[in-house]
Amino acid sequence: MEEIAETELIMLPGPVPVIPRILRSLSKPTINHRGPEFKRLLEWCTARLQELFCTKNDLYILSGSGTCAMESAVGNLGRSTTFVAAENGKFGERLKELCELYGETKSVVSEWGAPVDLEEIKRHLEEGADAVTVVHNETSVGMTNPVREISKLCKKHDALLIMDGVSSIGGIAAPIDSWGVDLAFTGSQKCLGLPPGLSMISVSDKAWDFIERAQKRPYYMDLIKYRASGQKGQTPYTPAIPLFFALEEALKVFAAEGLDARIRRHTIFAESIRAAAAAMGIDLFPTLDAVSAYSNTVTALKVPRDIEVATIKNEMRRRGVIVAGGQSKLKDKIIRIGNMGNISKGDVLNVIEKLEMILEEHHILNTIGIGSLAADEILAQL
Ligand code: PLP
Repeated sequence: MEEIAETELIMLPGPVPVIPRILRSLSKPTINHRGPEFKRLLEWCTARLQELFCTKNDLYILSGSGTCAMESAVGNLGRSTTFVAAENGKFGERLKELCELYGETKSVVSEWGAPVDLEEIKRHLEEGADAVTVVHNETSVGMTNPVREISKLCKKHDALLIMDGVSSIGGIAAPIDSWGVDLAFTGSQKCLGLPPGLSMISVSDKAWDFIERAQKRPYYMDLIKYRASGQKGQTPYTPAIPLFFALEEALKVFAAEGLDARIRRHTIFAESIRAAAAAMGIDLFPTLDAVSAYSNTVTALKVPRDIEVATIKNEMRRRGVIVAGGQSKLKDKIIRIGNMGNISKGDVLNVIEKLEMILEEHHILNTIGIGSLAADEILAQL
């Protein structure tokens, strides 16, 4: 058996470490999901999540990971919808595949890690497409896409906007109503700091018009059933009750910090990782344009010459820190460091220090401490 550190720090772009207070709430006794306690829990969590999404739209909590909400968003709109699917990474690709499964699709594909093509999106909207899908924070490449710009295009052409906020909502500003996002969703195991297994989706009145007209909708993720049950303080099917207990606790932790402070903390963490990378001479993976940005929840680093992704991952793990490699075609090209949820400054410094040690051992870095020093200066703002 490979030797590993006794306790591991998971600095992945999800799932994220779960703090003890939230973990403990998972072991509460089960309650009746058709009773008054669950009704209170569901209604309280829904109202807090609407605040967190900055929306007055309806919001539903699904017992399924982020992809469940993703499929729900696209699948509920019906077969006669023409989607424009913007892809510049793995999750944009997944959304595109869902669009292809459920409707007609105009795909707008960029190189992974390159900006989405706004002109091409505009062209499809001018030709009458009904809806645009975009990943706000493309976790696979460490890049934030310009949802606000896309929302302007959608407004102009009266099209629906579907936003994957799985790795942004709660960590990067994503004001759903002021941007006019019709369907927005996130997952539990990212910025909320929960274990995986829940997802949340908001639905605008305009989206309801499409959903009500749809000839076919998914069975388990039928939003009309969620709306009907929600009015009774219930979910259509048995919910993942322990995860709802954890959600309540996580939302209390969230409220104590406040949305703005939480976004600021995520920003400072990511800036400190980027500063460390720059000091160590490691390049960031994405190529930006004027309206895209480096992600403030996950940093994608190009792997330096003379070392492999697997070596970095394995040697990090031996030192007790788990980081991610790239997905699909980026598997051997990048490493990704997440900084979502309830992690601390110490956790951020820990991952940087371990990376430095490994690079120094492999003679890629001469001066140990240079990255942590750069990060520390930024982290001092907190
Ligand atoms: N969308 C984005 C942006 C993600 O980062 C992820 C997961 O990493 C997903 C969708 C899929 O979520 P899940 O793995 O919870 O199904």
